[in-house]
Amino acid sequence: MAYNCLICKDDGFRINNGNVQPCECVKQQRLILLYKEIGLPLRFRDVKLEQYSIKQDAYGADLSPVAERQKIIAKDVVVQFIKSVPNMLNGNPFTYDFEDRNNQKHTLRSYSLVLMGQKQSGKSMLAACIAKGCVKQGHLPYYLEWSEIINACFDYNIDAGVENITSTLKYEDILNILTSSRIIILDNLDKSYEKSNVADEDKLTPSVRRKLDAMFSGRAKSAIPTVFTTDQNEVEVGGKYGPVLANILDDAIKIELPTLGRSKNPIELKKVN
Ligand SMILES: [Zn+2]
Repeated sequence: MAYNCLICKDDGFRINNGNVQPCECVKQQRLILLYKEIGLPLRFRDVKLEQYSIKQDAYGADLSPVAERQKIIAKDVVVQFIKSVPNMLNGNPFTYDFEDRNNQKHTLRSYSLVLMGQKQSGKSMLAACIAKGCVKQGHLPYYLEWSEIINACFDYNIDAGVENITSTLKYEDILNILTSSRIIILDNLDKSYEKSNVADEDKLTPSVRRKLDAMFSGRAKSAIPTVFTTDQNEVEVGGKYGPVLANILDDAIKIELPTLGRSKNPIELKKVN
């Protein structure tokens, strides 16, 4: 007979020094259910912060000293952010002290973190590590793809007046997540999602922007931990998502992640590295 788990032979427990302990397979199963509950895609199930290489890019090529420094700071910010989650939930912003290249000391404070980087920069992986770090501390975050939000707003918009239960439920579901989750991870606030693939039409209509304002106004007022990942720079993000989200993004601590050791943006205050 073939077992799914060779360690416990599918019993679900092991005897260790006379003590009955749940088997690793049961723990894994619980984690999978938990990740499902918080919306975290299963592809992130096994990611670990240690896998975020400081010395190399996603292709194994060595990075420049500048890119290496960016990665060291990014990793440190993620570690500190995870640690400060309980403190943030008690109403205190995440605080990060750093020294710039001119040895000037800066202290950044915010409830929001933006991980900025192109494809293969590891931004989604770091965001997933934050989600898992929250879970480990017993605080359940919710993970959402930005496209889910935009599509829900856009589809609801199109169908306004025509009763469409599916799109109404989807919109209300996302609205509920955004208003009730204590920690939100918003992955891929990317340009590519703003175009409809049906027609080459911008989904960021005035009505969609108003809905985004309504969705995020509660979060903006109550200062709730929010993590964004994006392939856009600050100039591109601008105010195009409506004033409420623009303010949240403006106030966030931004971390630029190198892809191939190249960096586009100069140092600015409120933006580490
Ligand atoms: Zn087992």
